[in-house]
Amino acid sequence: MTKTNINWSGFSKRSFDERLPIIERFQLLSPENLKHLTADHLLPIQTANQMTENVLGRFALPFSIAPDFLINGSTYHVPFVTEEPSVVAAASFAAKIIRRSGGFKTYIHNRQMIGQIALYGIDKIDKAKTTILAKTEELLATANQAYPSIVKRGGGARQIRLEQKGYFLIFYLTVDTQEAMGANMVNTMMEALVPDLEALSKGHSLMAILSNYATESLVTAKCQIDSCFLSRDKEKAQQLAKKMELASQLAQVDPYRATTHNKGIFNGIDAVVMATGNDWRAIEAGAHAYAARNGSYQGLSQWRFDQSQQLLFGELTLPMPIASKGGSIGLNPTVAIARDFLNSPDAKTLAQVIVAVGLAQNFAALKALTSSGIQAGHMKLHAKSLALLAGASEHEVAALVKTLLADKPMTLEKATTYLSKLRQSIDNGST
Ligand code: NDP
Repeated sequence: MTKTNINWSGFSKRSFDERLPIIERFQLLSPENLKHLTADHLLPIQTANQMTENVLGRFALPFSIAPDFLINGSTYHVPFVTEEPSVVAAASFAAKIIRRSGGFKTYIHNRQMIGQIALYGIDKIDKAKTTILAKTEELLATANQAYPSIVKRGGGARQIRLEQKGYFLIFYLTVDTQEAMGANMVNTMMEALVPDLEALSKGHSLMAILSNYATESLVTAKCQIDSCFLSRDKEKAQQLAKKMELASQLAQVDPYRATTHNKGIFNGIDAVVMATGNDWRAIEAGAHAYAARNGSYQGLSQWRFDQSQQLLFGELTLPMPIASKGGSIGLNPTVAIARDFLNSPDAKTLAQVIVAVGLAQNFAALKALTSSGIQAGHMKLHAKSLALLAGASEHEVAALVKTLLADKPMTLEKATTYLSKLRQSIDNGST
């Protein structure tokens, strides 16, 4: 069971060494995973070497936690893997506010993957369509015979659809892939169908593969935020809520803004997709195609302020064909840790957590953009990056950041100069 009565306040201010005992004290991870988390080499080189080609080593990224997401009445402490400063802080801030407003409500529309075979060189397309559709049951059986284990698990090929697009007759197959994302199983099924489809259509197959445009795997997350949580000043809170609604409308009409709006949503989504060992390229590709489904690229989320109720309503829908099994999920020990934080969710639960995180991230970004702007917070983070790039150690960073913020514009050259001055003054002081 997820612990819900943890006081997370001050967690971000604690030192690295102080954080792990908190995780241990509240038993958020099994003792084995806690040990793994602190191990120097989380991914054994032998495993890495089996995962991809030309392996020379491993590449590390920060593994963080954004606590206290309240989703459909359950609490989730969500693992994030991201290199971008402020993403985890923004998500945690949004989760806290949305929790106070009742949390997220999420639901799954459907959970099936789509494979396609592009047929070409067909003389009589209408006749080919009729002939293929008449063999629906046989074709579904052929697909299932090609990957029988998914049928045993309760999944398998479900439906056939045909569409003429230009020169092509495209055959679509929907497949229930259960806990897997399903790329390999769908590809296996599609390739098995090629000989029958070529014979039935009297045409040729150009390619047979899964589509990442997962329109049969849509997930929605919603929240409603009381305007009192936006500002202590009632007037300011209302203004901010109205501006956030406008920001959402802007992302519907301007693709330049929509792209950045959606990038902000993916700051959170990618971080959880990566932490849980899923294919983030697949998730990104599907969601960006979905953002352009109306003919122009639009923001994926919508916000609406209801003045009479003083509530800001947020909603995000996108394809989320996430997996709890398959791919590298069972191979990477850090993924096991991430899944442990989430109480080993099944694919449908994980998909809903991820879309809720996307909505939270979007809320935090729009709130910052329509109030103080994001640079106020980001300048401090930029100063920190410059300090680290200049070579400052952990105990030198705070002083160097303070000096840099007082001398804008900040540059790496200034950071290097101030760091050597800081070290000289410490040397002089200690001798
Ligand atoms: P896998 O090929 O790993 O297949 C899923 C595995 O999970 C199978 O071995 C299956 O067992 C096992 N499994 C265990 N329990 C379950 C369960 N309850 N439900 C379903 N499967 C279960 O993964 P996918 O087919 O999902 O393919 C995903 C991988 O393909 C990712 O690594 C992705 O990067 C990659 N990929 C993506 C492409 C794309 O997105 N266009 C293209 C090509 C590859 P069993 O063997 O018994 O069936």
